[in-house]
Amino acid sequence: MNYLLKKHTIAFFILFLFISNFFISCKSQKEFVSLETTRNKAITPTKKVKNIILLVGDGMGLSQVSASQFYNKNASNFNRFPVIGLIKTSSSSDLITDSAASATAFASGIKTYNGALGVNTDSLAVKTIVEEISKIGISTGIISTSSIVHATPAAFYTHTKKRSMYEDIAAQLVSSDIDFFAGGGINYFNDRKDKRDLILELEKNGFSIDLEMLPNTTKPTVSKKQGYLLAPDAMPKMVDGRGDFLSNATHLAIESLSTNEEGFFLMVEGSQIDWGGHDNDAAYLISELIDFDNTIGVALDFAKLNGETLVIVTADHETGGFTLAEDNGDYNKIKPVFSTGGHSATMIPVFAKGPNSEDFGGIYENTAIYNKMKTLFFENNNN
Ligand code: MG
Ligand code: ZN
Repeated sequence: MNYLLKKHTIAFFILFLFISNFFISCKSQKEFVSLETTRNKAITPTKKVKNIILLVGDGMGLSQVSASQFYNKNASNFNRFPVIGLIKTSSSSDLITDSAASATAFASGIKTYNGALGVNTDSLAVKTIVEEISKIGISTGIISTSSIVHATPAAFYTHTKKRSMYEDIAAQLVSSDIDFFAGGGINYFNDRKDKRDLILELEKNGFSIDLEMLPNTTKPTVSKKQGYLLAPDAMPKMVDGRGDFLSNATHLAIESLSTNEEGFFLMVEGSQIDWGGHDNDAAYLISELIDFDNTIGVALDFAKLNGETLVIVTADHETGGFTLAEDNGDYNKIKPVFSTGGHSATMIPVFAKGPNSEDFGGIYENTAIYNKMKTLFFENNNN
């Protein structure tokens, strides 16, 4: 566009704005009032938050989310969110966080050092949201495609100085307030240095445990807590045939936890999006991302029917410095490329839908996810 043409276009646009403004201001007072009323109606929250489903795509930055627009043959469930925010994820020790520090920010609302789970910078235990809301009768669940003792799920029930203390973490799950869990990690429960059989201990604590598969029916077992440990360590990759474990487990957890009239909190992790990033393996990453996208659909479908459920989707950090680049000058072809085998410092998107979802717009620290969720749970409980 040449300069003169540009100038004319701008002049025309200003004229257009002026004219349209003139017509709007000429609207009758009555019309104006009715417009205002509709607007007020639209923003009045009809229901309070009873349940929160937090879905964490480990290592999922904006390029990973964008991949769901280009590589998923189904319409991306990310398109269903009306509210988008961005979080800053640096930990207390490092500009670039690891999953442990970031999950602790979500679970306990504090910045701590990389590797820490549920402890502060002095390695002292801090309360988790699971501990706090269990006290007011809310049910809690965690699901991951890693082992259940891996950093992201563990931050919601453990207090350990180092994320690698897997056997300690497993022991802490037994005495935790968690009511439902599903993931891998059998070995940390029944093949231990201390010879304890944590499977037995979980059953003594009221859990029904399954080490084989998820039940075919989603008929909720009302009275019993449920635990599913379906692999010796991590769950298999999608490309190795994991199937619909993540969406089925999410469906099952929702069916079961939603029987509690006081409400529930469920954390669902797409753990291996991160591992595809670390491996700089685009096929691995994208298959895990699509599985996670489908699982978001399960949560949103329930929330739509239920009306009192807030769904939040975010990530702990980005992995791989992943981007969707042009392929050798061909702008009609996307080449997924990586800039690192580690994590990156890029801001992370937050998607929210449901009552009070508007609280999640803007740019803020990852610790605010905890603060916002806690406020909503306690506000609901006090009224
Ligand atoms: Mg993780
Ligand atoms: Zn990672």
